[in-house]
Amino acid sequence: MIDESESEVLDDMSEFSLELNEDQVQLQKWVHDFADDVIRPAAHEWDRREETPWPILAESAKIGLYGWEFMAEMMLNDPTGLSMSVALEELFWGDAGIGMSIMGSGLAAAGIAASGTEKQVLEWVPQCYGDADDVKLGAFAASEPDAGSDVSAYRTQAVYDEATGEWVLNGTKTWITNGGIADIHVVVAVVAPELGSKGQASFVVPPGTPGLSMGQKFSKHGIRASHTAEVVLDDVRIPGRCLLGSKERLDERLAGVREGKSNDRQAAMQTFEATRPAVAAQAVGIARAAYEYALDYAKERVAFGRPIIENQSIAFMLADMVTEIDAARLLTHRAAWLGKQRKFVNAEGSMAKLKAGRVAVWSTERAMQILGGYGYVTDHPVERWHRDAKIYDIFEGTEQIQQLVISRAISGVRIK
Ligand SMILES: Cc1cc2nc3c(=O)[nH]c(=O)nc-3n(C[C@H](O)[C@H](O)[C@H](O)COP(=O)(O)OP(=O)(O)OC[C@H]3O[C@@H](n4cnc5c(N)ncnc54)[C@H](O)[C@@H]3O)c2cc1C
Repeated sequence: MIDESESEVLDDMSEFSLELNEDQVQLQKWVHDFADDVIRPAAHEWDRREETPWPILAESAKIGLYGWEFMAEMMLNDPTGLSMSVALEELFWGDAGIGMSIMGSGLAAAGIAASGTEKQVLEWVPQCYGDADDVKLGAFAASEPDAGSDVSAYRTQAVYDEATGEWVLNGTKTWITNGGIADIHVVVAVVAPELGSKGQASFVVPPGTPGLSMGQKFSKHGIRASHTAEVVLDDVRIPGRCLLGSKERLDERLAGVREGKSNDRQAAMQTFEATRPAVAAQAVGIARAAYEYALDYAKERVAFGRPIIENQSIAFMLADMVTEIDAARLLTHRAAWLGKQRKFVNAEGSMAKLKAGRVAVWSTERAMQILGGYGYVTDHPVERWHRDAKIYDIFEGTEQIQQLVISRAISGVRIK
């Protein structure tokens, strides 16, 4: 029997609304204020330093923005699914590099939640964050030098050592957010090479495990306050309990695949699919930052004796920008809601990510145009936002991979 309170929750879950609830309005303001007061003023410095902004991570941990409790609240106590998108838009409006430093551990947490047992989630997710006095990081390591979009081409191997009950990991991961400096690394590895992407599993590498080291640290075009590096795994021995899920479930799954039973749940794809609306919301935040800045600038900048916004060509650019940003946000909120209700039909998460990435790149470029020469120099943040935006066409599935996922969903054809 459904009691009254349960039926309210079910009612909430069945309706999509554009109106944010009271909690979401408060959340939006809370994150916005932090982004405005703490993140924006620090953004230029950390972009130049190309380092993880530890003091800002500590401050966000202090207010409860960086931490597993915040992630749990967003994931578990929000029947609409929209809260995370609302928070991320504000955070990344502040700065995408610092935003990614704050949210990077969430990829590891999502990887653990996607494949782990409840016990594993409770053990490992808090260790991805630490606390305000001792901030920790998590990293999700899937991509490899010869396998980014093509997740079936991973070569990193995990071999089970029957004698000790340990797994032994060997390989190289690349482009890893927080790679090598994280306390917890979640690593996707091949356990049954003959099964391609269906022969993979995810593992937690605990802090200080010998054999895991950082390779090259990358110097990047944008989101430079977020650390990106190679992770080298050289005979990394981890206890059996570090396999996410369990050995029994893995053996069962692999046996099913060998018998030809359909199994589309690829370890890496699970994580990416669940995180796409959240990534789209980040891109919307960058686009909105650039739009607002350009609007203010256009009202103040005078050329030919009048504010430049009085020219249709400038005003229309701004009109197009706000329209595109609203369209991207609507797709993002729809995808976040559909994701929560498990009602995806036509890869709407990929649609949101595809659109939002393009809108971020396009809007930040238009904002530079509106600022003219001032848009091109580092005295104004617009050139940084443009650099930051481009990654949204690339990571968490490139533009073309989103198109592939959408076109397969709408056609039912295995488009290549
Ligand atoms: C800053 C940054 C942070 C990252 N963080 C992480 C992380 O934390 N963890 C992690 O695991 N990975 C991470 N990545 C990796 C990222 O997800 C990959 O770079 C991305 O998936 C693309 O893979 P690739 O670079 O190997 O490009 P490729 O797969 O080599 O693609 C190259 C080009 O070919 C196109 N292409 C490839 N296949 C097809 C196809 N079938 N049809 C049409 N076009 C195709 C692509 O769209 C792209 O334009 C990060 C990357 C960057 C740059």
